[in-house]
Amino acid sequence: MIRVAVTGAAGRMGSEVIRAVNAEPDMEVVVGVDPAHPGETLQGVVVSTDLSSAIEREHPDVMVDFTRPDAVETNVRTALAAGVHCVVGTTGIPLETLQQLAQGAPGQTCLFVAPNFAIGAVLMMRFAAQAARFLPHVEIIELHHDRKADAPSGTALRTAALIAENRPYVPEAPGCETEIASGARGALAEGVSVHSVRLPGLVAHQEVIFGGEGQTLTIRHDSIDRTSFMPGVLLAIREVGKHSGLVVGLERLMPE
Ligand code: NAP
Repeated sequence: MIRVAVTGAAGRMGSEVIRAVNAEPDMEVVVGVDPAHPGETLQGVVVSTDLSSAIEREHPDVMVDFTRPDAVETNVRTALAAGVHCVVGTTGIPLETLQQLAQGAPGQTCLFVAPNFAIGAVLMMRFAAQAARFLPHVEIIELHHDRKADAPSGTALRTAALIAENRPYVPEAPGCETEIASGARGALAEGVSVHSVRLPGLVAHQEVIFGGEGQTLTIRHDSIDRTSFMPGVLLAIREVGKHSGLVVGLERLMPE
């Protein structure tokens, strides 16, 4: 049995992770941590506020973190120092911070981070990287629920990075002579315009729109339910112990 600690246990993603893990035959949630729900029992898991003592008591093999950009760093540092592998879905952490965290980890522990655990989103990013080789003019529209803490999304930033790695040249960004409302042309990430939409009713969605002579190509992915992320999270829980150091992106655990 893989013993799993879930940080952000009471959150939208954390509660879905507890449900998914406890439905599997080869893993179980032994620790749930969430500061706003001390002592509560959520889906059979008693919620603690102190990750360090919960790790000492329950000896989890893997911590899964879906919390907040301002909380994840301390959680990861605590887990890695105790030799617990980390599967991180929380977005908004700079790459340099992840590298520093992984450097401080004991030899065989792994810090696995995925900006998006949905298989369809990983494919969207892969297809966008391919398309960028032939269609360098591209913009990203990412759409999320209105409680999301960070913008642009981790998926949009990762997509922009993949586009930057693959397109043969960076076309001159078409500005506009008169920006009547500031920010109308979006934010620039790796030279790609990114537009962030935040609305109730949305879960996690992204369109990557390429433009060429007389044509456009739109690649779109929609997570319409948080269950879409769970096969990727379960895969990461099973695989993380086979790796060490920093590993970024679900594609690193998927067959080519
Ligand atoms: P959420 O519903 O706000 O859940 C976050 C939970 O973490 C809250 O219950 C929060 O408590 C708790 N928390 C805050 N500080 C904590 C700490 N130090 N230790 C333990 N728990 C703590 O947010 P969500 O929608 O689940 O999203 C969580 C993160 O996952 C976000 O960064 C989001 O972008 C990311 N995400 C990633 C993916 C992916 O595929 N990688 C998919 C979806 C979401 P309070 O409410 O009291 O602060």
